Amino acid sequence: MTTHMLTFDVEEFYQVEAARRAGVSPQMWAVYDSRLDVGLDSICELLDAADVRATFFILGEVARRRGDWVKRLAAAGHEIASHGMTHTMLTQLSPEAAAAELRDSKALLEELSGEAVLGFRAPTFSINHTNAWAIDALADAGYAYDSSIFPVRHDRYGVPDAPRGAFRCVGPEGGAVLEIPPLTRRVCGMTMPMGGGGYFRLVPLWWFASAIKAAARRNDPAMLYFHPWEFDADQPELPGLSGLRRWRHRVGLAKNAKKLLKLLTKFSFGPVRDQLDGLKQTDVDFTL
Ligand SMILES: [Zn+2]
Repeated sequence: MTTHMLTFDVEEFYQVEAARRAGVSPQMWAVYDSRLDVGLDSICELLDAADVRATFFILGEVARRRGDWVKRLAAAGHEIASHGMTHTMLTQLSPEAAAAELRDSKALLEELSGEAVLGFRAPTFSINHTNAWAIDALADAGYAYDSSIFPVRHDRYGVPDAPRGAFRCVGPEGGAVLEIPPLTRRVCGMTMPMGGGGYFRLVPLWWFASAIKAAARRNDPAMLYFHPWEFDADQPELPGLSGLRRWRHRVGLAKNAKKLLKLLTKFSFGPVRDQLDGLKQTDVDFTL
């Protein structure tokens, strides 16, 4: 049976890109109360119930304030990985600033967890052909794998021509990391995102399950991602978040834990680090 990859991007509800675009800047984060316990307690409860270990891509700013959670997750046998320091899209950072975030978050998470950090996921999947230097920066910082390239068309992210399964991504300077894209599904000739987040909350479970089965048939274990705030239906409304952004953030929150628990009983899941050796490793030059 294929073991699929279960991951969580650990950030507060007010640190998401939609909040930033609605005017909640990092300078304002201090005015919000942490809601991390609600989401992470709920996630830990359902992972324990299903006896599943996962990978947690933790934001450096979260690790700084809530190092207790890094230690607790590592002690429970989960993999600790990096989600950057400040949740700034890599496309918005200079190569120097991005390199510092990659280095600093890795060092901080390794110090707290006592384990090597192998993986990275950029905020809002923000690696594409315009910042291909990020692949070299990841290799330089000592990461073994990355999960930031989403092979879809989307208003905020996406590289439509990127492979849908794992590949060895080679940057302009020759640095390489194993790239593991989130799950997608081909529908009517189009590649649809199906990796988690709002897509998981929106589509019926049977449809999501069929995408995972299709991935297993291709020999590409599914890469799924969720966030603690998706398991916290009582989180405060963000000021300025309206229309599509509000809907995208809140759709299906109340039923999400039950839905994920059902999925965890249907398929086998584990942390990314345990799957690395079995993934496809074809070289793809990302500068093209
Ligand atoms: Zn994020």
